[in-house]
Amino acid sequence: MDWIRLTKSGKDLTGLKGRLIEVTEEELKKHNKKDDCWICIRGFVYNVSPYMEYHPGGEDELMRAAGSDGTDLFDQVHRWVNYESMLKECLVGRMAMKPAFPKDYHEEKKVLNGMLPQSQVTDTLAKEGPSSPSYDWFQTDSLVTIVIYTKQKDINLDSVIVDHRDDSFRAETVIKDYSYLVHVALSHEIQEDFSVLVVENVGKIEIVLKKKENTSWKCLGHPQENHNSFIPKKDTGLFYRKCQLVSKEDVTHDTKLFCLMLPPSTHLEVPVGQHVYLRLPITGTEIVKPYTPVCDSLFSEFKEPVLPNNIYIYFLIKIYPAGFFTPELDQLQIGDYVSVSNPEGNFIISQLQELEDLFLLAAGTGFTPMVKVLNYALTNIPSLRKVKLMFFNKTEDDIIWRSQLEKLAFKDKRFEVEFVLSAPTSEWSGKQGYISPALLSEFLKRRSDTSKVLICLCGPTPFTEQGMKMLHDLNFSKDEIHSFTA
Ligand code: FAD
Ligand code: NAP
Repeated sequence: MDWIRLTKSGKDLTGLKGRLIEVTEEELKKHNKKDDCWICIRGFVYNVSPYMEYHPGGEDELMRAAGSDGTDLFDQVHRWVNYESMLKECLVGRMAMKPAFPKDYHEEKKVLNGMLPQSQVTDTLAKEGPSSPSYDWFQTDSLVTIVIYTKQKDINLDSVIVDHRDDSFRAETVIKDYSYLVHVALSHEIQEDFSVLVVENVGKIEIVLKKKENTSWKCLGHPQENHNSFIPKKDTGLFYRKCQLVSKEDVTHDTKLFCLMLPPSTHLEVPVGQHVYLRLPITGTEIVKPYTPVCDSLFSEFKEPVLPNNIYIYFLIKIYPAGFFTPELDQLQIGDYVSVSNPEGNFIISQLQELEDLFLLAAGTGFTPMVKVLNYALTNIPSLRKVKLMFFNKTEDDIIWRSQLEKLAFKDKRFEVEFVLSAPTSEWSGKQGYISPALLSEFLKRRSDTSKVLICLCGPTPFTEQGMKMLHDLNFSKDEIHSFTA
């Protein structure tokens, strides 16, 4: 808040009196001292000296990138932080660089034919990444179909995210750690609804658009930023769309179930185990925090699905009265908007394939990634023998969806739940304390030495770190453990 106040004070934070300049590499290198520190992030240069004392990671961390391109370092630590908004008053200008992809007529034509210009395939990608996708399009009187050939087999409906606003059409396909983008300003108007189909075994995606008028299109449209690019996901900015708050329900005394509605003409399914970023303007600055979508309930029988699932995203969010973001989120009224990013995260659904025992260790809202993992495993993994959840909370009142968990355990004999409380009342007869080797070794019983096991962990960072160490000490291998982190 102090930093935001300073940025709003009208003080000249760059020392350039509001001018934006082109910065050469030589110039950037000169600004490498604490009181004169410039850093480049994604081609934009910021004077971060005034920000030094506010940086949560400390001055020394910032100085690691002084006078240089700090993009990689920034991405390693907090790729999702909205630096453009936080540092907008510190913007010195752009790096002076030749455009990488000249947009002459010849290139545009090539792009529109779905060929990937060689210049957009990075060196790393050419050496180790998946082979480049391509796209094509065709039409009938009433429809336009865009076909993306991913050349990968493990593609499904959550691999592709489509956003159509005004005339801008954006389809991002995630292929392993890479992102392929089709991004055009459509040449003609289309109707609001479209369909997305995936032919999994050949990795083909079809997006079928409905024309507003039955005229013949000469071209699909004009290329927009990063159109037809295939680049490592970490090098792409996060894309956000505004979602409307549809409902908000109390779950515990401090945790609520938020339901957000995607805007029309959007296809977005958050993969199991992944999170998104929510973004809200707070006192004029865009603030971003990660949250993990859940299902509307643990099992569909607990609640009639009144709303179709592909338009709504549910979040279990704990409101911290002294927190920065959640009190603002809690202030939103039904009908208000919050921006939601594309999904991120390193959980891969194939980790669950052929699994026999799944152990979930969750503390507080660290329960959120477990919801979809649990649902998916019980529904889709025939080899599954047992799912056991150990759920750590302070008190009984803090347990999220306790009765749903107990009903599920009653109904599905493969599922067991154990609650562990760190600050129980005297009436509590269950387990108490913190995560410990004794609790874990008793809980994590595998059927045989060779049975396929996965242990998922999520909670406050020290909980997760201690848990990881204990699991290694109990001889579980790296492949048998997944910790959910940012
Ligand atoms: P913050 O401002 O971060 O404060 C949190 C608490 O710390 C408050 O009690 C505050 O008083 C205290 N605090 C803040 N600063 C200090 C300080 N300097 N000294 C001492 N105490 C301090 N949360 C969910 O509820 N649901 C989810 O699904 C979810 N998913 C997540 C997914 C990921 C990948 C990650 C990394 C986190 C997730 N979180 C989730 C946590 C979420 O991102 C936020 O951290 C959380 O909502 C708190 O945000 P806040 O800004 O309101 O609180
Ligand atoms: P909380 O209520 O503060 O804590 C839940 C339980 O964990 C309590 O019993 C608590 O004990 C215990 N605990 C706290 N710190 C511990 C530690 N160092 N070692 C062992 N036990 C510890 O939890 P919360 O407020 O809901 O916070 C949940 C956390 O999960 C947040 O930090 C959030 O960022 C994280 N999260 C991460 C993801 C992800 O995907 N990475 C998703 C969701 C949430 P006491 O409080 O009694 O000490």
